[in-house]
Amino acid sequence: MSSAVVVSSENLDGQQQSSSTPASPAAEKVNLLGMSRAQLEKFFEDIGEKKFRAGQVMKWIHQYFVTDFAEMTNISGKLRAKLEQICEIKAPEVVHRHYSKDGTRKWVFRVGEGSGSLVETVLIPAEDKTGSRKTLCISSQVGCALDCSFCSTGKQGFQRDLTPDEIIGQLWMANYSYMEEVPVAERERSVTNVVMMGMGEPLLNYDAVLSSMHIMLDDFAYGMSKRRVTLSTSGVVPKIDQLAQDIDVALAISLHAPNDELRNELVPINKKYPLAQLIAACQRYIAKDGNESARKHVTIEYVMLEGVNDQPEHAQQLLKLLKNLPSKINLIPFNPFPHAPYGRSSRNRIISFQKTLSDAGFVCTIRQTRGDDIDAACGQLVGQVADRTRRAEQWQKKVAQRQEILRTQG
Ligand code: SF4
Repeated sequence: MSSAVVVSSENLDGQQQSSSTPASPAAEKVNLLGMSRAQLEKFFEDIGEKKFRAGQVMKWIHQYFVTDFAEMTNISGKLRAKLEQICEIKAPEVVHRHYSKDGTRKWVFRVGEGSGSLVETVLIPAEDKTGSRKTLCISSQVGCALDCSFCSTGKQGFQRDLTPDEIIGQLWMANYSYMEEVPVAERERSVTNVVMMGMGEPLLNYDAVLSSMHIMLDDFAYGMSKRRVTLSTSGVVPKIDQLAQDIDVALAISLHAPNDELRNELVPINKKYPLAQLIAACQRYIAKDGNESARKHVTIEYVMLEGVNDQPEHAQQLLKLLKNLPSKINLIPFNPFPHAPYGRSSRNRIISFQKTLSDAGFVCTIRQTRGDDIDAACGQLVGQVADRTRRAEQWQKKVAQRQEILRTQG
């Protein structure tokens, strides 16, 4: 078994928690957790060792979840002692974890020195025709600078980018949570899918996210299928083009509005990269490698906000916008958070919106709301902070005006 220490939790929701996380004897040691295979090979060459050691150590870390070099039995005792001296395998500290009745699991990690900052990770299990899925929603930044008006994370402002070990550490810990008591030789990875859709805009922390996704795909690490790793962006157009050159993973767009006027309000980065540019970038992404890649279509994420973007004319505008983009549409019932300026569209409204899109030939799904008992929406738990911006108040006024107009229009 790998070594572990018990970390007492912060009482974020009034419940006493405790968590296990790997031990880390010295802060100045090199953390191997977030290194890609190429980086690990260089590391071993730099310390005068053969580079094939990189693959061996990667397997111990990411397939057997071992953090103690003494347990790496196919490595000589001399090298193990050397590694113990100069490096470590250290996941971010878990300060809160909660497992929902419906199988959803959620962690709050502390990252950084001192009191650090908090980020969230959510694991959502589901059954479908391909079998059981466990999808992990991973954060890429502490807070977010992009200020989307419906987003709990956006209310917290931007603090900093996560490092590769803090990003991949979320996947490591989610898998580890299923096997803390399982003997090393019997350990198997549980997480089947990853979406880079947690706190932060992943394309604004490009290098760390790219490096982490390479570890997810690497057969010496998680060996995930490229179709099961999805990057979700609010639309940083130049980085979408760069991503197409650098890695083959699935792409999702946080669209949420079918016209520029509304999207400028909901997703302010739209002012810099308007819809025409964004859709063109998606088309280029799909065209890059054709059917051989994970890019047969783009997933369009569309949060359903009552009286804001859920009207029949919005569905018609969406049809027009997406008519030349191979896409699947995922309608997300809004998950209200404290001070949220919006409400969730009614079930009937969402079904009617879906029908318009499905009748036009789009694959359109409605996301099942999960983990309501643990505040599973992005940034919601960490976001139990005051809204520093008064944007919620301003938006509540705008939404009320909009609803009044709709009422008078009948
Ligand atoms: S929706 Fe995503 S990009 Fe927008 S503020 Fe929230 S975390 Fe940032």
